[in-house]
Amino acid sequence: MIPVARFRRFLLLFLLSSPALAVSPDGVVAVSHPAAAAAGARMLAQGGNAIDAAAAVQFALNVVEPQSSGIGGGGFMLIHLTKTGETVIVDSRERAPAAASADMFAPEGMPMPFQQASTSGLSVGVPGTLRGVDTALRRWGTLPLSQALQPAIELAEHGFRVNRFMAEDIANDGGRTQLQPETAAIFRPGGVPLKEGDRLAQPDLARTLKLLAAEGPDAFYRGPMAQAIVEAQQRARSELGPAGAGRMTLADLAQYQVAIRKPLVGHYRGWTLAGMPPPSSGGLTTFQILAMLERFPLGDPAQGYGFGSPKTLNVMIEAMRLAFADRAVWIGDDDAMPVPQVDLLNADYLATRSALIKPDSRMGTPHAGNPRPRDTLSARPQPQSTQQESPHTTHFSIVDRWGNLVSYTSTIEFTWGSGITVPGYGFLLNNELTDFNFVPSGDAAAGNPGANDVAPGKRPRSSMAPTVLFRDGKPVAVYGSPGGSTIINSVLNVTLNLVDHGMSLQQAIDAPRLSVTQAAGRVACEGGAPFMQPRFSIATQDTLRSLGHVGLGELGSDGCQATIGSVQAVAVDPATGSRHGAADPRREGTVIRVKQTENLPEVRR
Ligand code: GLU
Repeated sequence: MIPVARFRRFLLLFLLSSPALAVSPDGVVAVSHPAAAAAGARMLAQGGNAIDAAAAVQFALNVVEPQSSGIGGGGFMLIHLTKTGETVIVDSRERAPAAASADMFAPEGMPMPFQQASTSGLSVGVPGTLRGVDTALRRWGTLPLSQALQPAIELAEHGFRVNRFMAEDIANDGGRTQLQPETAAIFRPGGVPLKEGDRLAQPDLARTLKLLAAEGPDAFYRGPMAQAIVEAQQRARSELGPAGAGRMTLADLAQYQVAIRKPLVGHYRGWTLAGMPPPSSGGLTTFQILAMLERFPLGDPAQGYGFGSPKTLNVMIEAMRLAFADRAVWIGDDDAMPVPQVDLLNADYLATRSALIKPDSRMGTPHAGNPRPRDTLSARPQPQSTQQESPHTTHFSIVDRWGNLVSYTSTIEFTWGSGITVPGYGFLLNNELTDFNFVPSGDAAAGNPGANDVAPGKRPRSSMAPTVLFRDGKPVAVYGSPGGSTIINSVLNVTLNLVDHGMSLQQAIDAPRLSVTQAAGRVACEGGAPFMQPRFSIATQDTLRSLGHVGLGELGSDGCQATIGSVQAVAVDPATGSRHGAADPRREGTVIRVKQTENLPEVRR
């Protein structure tokens, strides 16, 4: 249990950290782009709740941060409802088409190069975002879809100012905005890449969004737009030639369904967390790491721990390596193949795994554990996947005046997704299917279930991890991050900063992060920006190097130059109900507080 004094200090910091401290239960949105934050704020000002605001933010992001998310992608929306105290997840993860096969990314047993596969139609999963947002609005929102789409329609029609991040993403696109003429026409008009300060209007996208406002999501999943989606992924230019043709059909689109899921629940030092269940590894892997770390006094400098100390970083790295070894073997789409969720979070199992961690040394490459000792076969780690990390995707968090919370991570997978824009409709298609294992790993004799091998209709394993932190049964913060498999570690870093290091919400976001996403253990760490404080010192990095940790470069150099994630969060003080948000300076993170009309009932309008 955490001492009461520490909890008080934490609450105090939460409150003091609020730039605009207010006791009235205002709504707060925290988003990675100001125009999308404004779209959410507008819904709150119009009397909408957090779910309405989330819908507007998501659609606006499709316009102003199209490289990260949109209706051509998928995501996980976590909703905490004040009235019932329930936490629900709207899983709008993309699905493999019915014609997908386990070997489709390794036709001759050899994995396709990631770049080629991920810019081909073959990588496009059946998109879920629009169904997900519409489902959430119908069940828990109060405003119609058409109203939630309005800010996005205006942004697409009238244009907006290209920010530094979008300009950089176009300049460093790895070819993704150049391969397809429709994409180049939007982001490189006349062959010239858009730069910071340029205005970008997207008339095709505006028309699409208006059509959806008038006709609803069926206009996307059936009819001419569905036809255009299918053709785009079949015929897009690809270095793979015909082998890269997408396999999605009209039937796949028409049959797409979101899943409403219960969150996975984890515990850490007397706090409770609710997070993503499969097909995301977000909850399981984060909670495994937390459970393995609980026996170390991470917050106590007197015992050699504390933020950024070599001991703290070493045990974090080791716990990450162990959990990611498990993730590689055991976690996939539970609807397609049962994931041993309860076993992976079993306290005895995790105590055995944690016992492998030594505060002052580095273990050899760990194997996945066997969380099901009743099975006689032991699992082995799968071969290194060809997956790459992408810094993109997006996360936002919202609280409304009634206290409903939304924490939503949404993606088209890689920055610019597959790079395929649906001709005439102006939105990008995802490359989410490259989150599957490229080479099938199922091997009954070795005890490897092939949890994340491609299969028809299956959802690829995700790392997305929208999370709620509870204290005494009450939600005190929601947060999440983009960043591929580093998402899990961004969420972990923020959680430790709040719980162990007593940081304010903004400090917890600003602080430099550390991430390892494979059992082999290549360390990525931050420090390149002035706001990333306190630093991981060179002496600390040298200690880690001397233990044998890899990825940090030469002895004596500053190897902490990565940028990891982009966390947007809102916090609620359970005692007073006051709220505040915190956003990530790693992008154009923006917090807007909205005074919502007093005594406004939360009703469908
Ligand atoms: N496809 C990734 C996932 O679902 C997200 C991509 C990213 O964050 O860069 O975990």
